[in-house]
Amino acid sequence: MNYRSVSHILESSIIDMGSFQVKQPLPTQKVPQISPFLLLHHFGPIKVEPGFDPIDLGPHPHRGFEPVTFLYQGGIRHKDSLGNEGILEAGDIQWMTAGRGIIHSERASDFFMENGGTIEGIQLWANLSAQDKMTQPKYQEIRKNDIPIIAENKVTHRLVSGNWNGEKGIVDTFSPMIIIQTSILTGGKTHIPIPENFNACIYILSGKIILNNNFDYPAGKMIYFTNKGDSIGIEGLEDTEILVLCGEPIEEPLAQYGPFVMNSQTEIMEAMRDYQMGKMGFYID
Ligand code: MN
Repeated sequence: MNYRSVSHILESSIIDMGSFQVKQPLPTQKVPQISPFLLLHHFGPIKVEPGFDPIDLGPHPHRGFEPVTFLYQGGIRHKDSLGNEGILEAGDIQWMTAGRGIIHSERASDFFMENGGTIEGIQLWANLSAQDKMTQPKYQEIRKNDIPIIAENKVTHRLVSGNWNGEKGIVDTFSPMIIIQTSILTGGKTHIPIPENFNACIYILSGKIILNNNFDYPAGKMIYFTNKGDSIGIEGLEDTEILVLCGEPIEEPLAQYGPFVMNSQTEIMEAMRDYQMGKMGFYID
């Protein structure tokens, strides 16, 4: 057992999205990406009255990567230019492959709008390599109860993607990645093996942990590890929720503008033109 040491501690900055605020630990000035992961937004937990939509994201395009939503509390309604429409409930995941282009909207679900309540989730952007950027767009909805569980004493791992501890995650990804939603009760300890060639980080949604039997870290921080070592060790000092993100780095140039993530500025210009010409579809919501 050889723990990976900490490379960077990423503090979340607060980003104003219009109707709500999100914590953004990635990217930062110093860490533009943890390839293949480009961006993480943590929204909520926020409690709202009936009739208020704290999400309210109207139609917007994406190209060249995979926007993934992990909903922890509340309800979200998704619609897109492929004609998909779905409701996410607490614990569900929306895995979208933007590929060559999709337009979608995300709003609070009708049930949430009528009843109000607490909403909390994460949006993660996972990059696609050059060969997959222009793939057919697709949308997968994953129910909480279909995610494989690996249970330990006081620890529950939900394996979203990758081969890990003898299990296979529910989502097949274009490039190899291991994504785990880990819940730890106070006093619970776990050991997370990570392949040596994978980049790795964890984001702490709530609670507090001791990392590698060493320092402790509170909620809101992302810990980015060096690539030396075979695992990380986590102990919950409180009831804790973390997201574990590991993946084989995509070693390619990165060109990003707003909702488009490509390899060159020329491809960004093409994406803007294709969107304006309606090549990513038409969709009003
Ligand atoms: Mn989006």
